[in-house]
Amino acid sequence: MTEIAPVAAAPPLASVPLAEPFLGAEERALVLQCLDDNCVSSVGPFVGRFEEEFARLVGARHAVACASGTAALHLAAVSLGLGQDDEVWAPTFTFAATVNPFLYERCRIVLFDSEPETWNVDSELMLAELSQRRRSGRGLPRAIVVAHIYGHPARLTDLAATCRKLGIVLIEDACEAVNAFWIGRAYERRHVGSVGDAGCFSFNGNKLITSGGGGMLVTDSDDLARLARHLSTQARIPGAAYWHDRAGYNYRLTNIAAALGLGQLRLLPEIQARKRIIVERYAASLRGLPGIVPPPRFPWALANDWLFTVLVDATRFGAGRDVLLAHLAKKKIDVRPTWTPLHTLPYLRGCPFIGGAVALGLAATGLSLPSSAGLTEQQQARVIAALRELAADTAHAE
Ligand SMILES: *Cc1c(COP(=O)(O)O)cnc(C)c1O
Repeated sequence: MTEIAPVAAAPPLASVPLAEPFLGAEERALVLQCLDDNCVSSVGPFVGRFEEEFARLVGARHAVACASGTAALHLAAVSLGLGQDDEVWAPTFTFAATVNPFLYERCRIVLFDSEPETWNVDSELMLAELSQRRRSGRGLPRAIVVAHIYGHPARLTDLAATCRKLGIVLIEDACEAVNAFWIGRAYERRHVGSVGDAGCFSFNGNKLITSGGGGMLVTDSDDLARLARHLSTQARIPGAAYWHDRAGYNYRLTNIAAALGLGQLRLLPEIQARKRIIVERYAASLRGLPGIVPPPRFPWALANDWLFTVLVDATRFGAGRDVLLAHLAKKKIDVRPTWTPLHTLPYLRGCPFIGGAVALGLAATGLSLPSSAGLTEQQQARVIAALRELAADTAHAE
């Protein structure tokens, strides 16, 4: 087993932040309305409106607002009936919250490697493993979780069709992928999260849009939406006093958070436009920096440009990822290494891992650059200059 040491996080007082909230006048007005109406908790008009508008964006029949993306994934797991010893397949190269909710339910996780093109889980590898399981008569997984990391849609067409055919539950972790679409022939302009049995989104402070903290479960199933909503509100039977039919959760979003989220949804076109400009500027300046490999882009996918994440080819650039991380951190530029593959984390080492070293490579060479919608041209120029500096330094040193 390859040992991976923890990589230090960025300094707390970065002068160029990684991913800050970008708020407009509408958020302010809506939140003030919550204060004026004394509707700051779960009672109030905004949760329902946020759900309706979000369902429309995604093109799903239902959206159930909840306290976080992790809560949305947990509600999906429980509502879809996953439990003790159910096998769940998941990517290794993702944020840990993709798998944790399934561990809460004592599922058995099997982790899969990434595909080098999109960095998302290698769905061909999953399909190959499924055929092998069928041939050998070994059992199939109960569920597959796919994540759309860094806001880039995963290749899902064949895997989704196979899951449907074999009766395997498909859950999309779209926590990083609000406003990301498939635009290929198979899914003509379809929002990610709308293909699986459930799609889960996060409105954490560092995501594309934020409600301060919050999440959303989307689904086309009336039953699933009803159950998820019921479980998120302590499994309380409406109309009866303190009558609960099972052990529920307190996962409901507050009215004040929903107000913020609703304002952000209305600002989404502006946030997205700003992100596109930031990405174009990075892409243009990186063309002159050999060895800094831009993030994946494909004609079939419309990524949301959440975090501009590059791979550092140490030989061509002249310095490795960790040298770059340290250099940028010293300049108070907030950067992050890419995810630590989950199969290398001590608490997940008992999970079988299928694949090779693609995720390990991505983890060793990947770097997310400051990508806030509010990033100024000057701030971005500082980031690019710092990158150039190191390339130049290294060249001089040779
Ligand atoms: C952020 C994130 C989550 C969890 O969302 P929270 O709202 O922070 O709980 C889950 N999965 C992925 C891939 C994420 O990036």
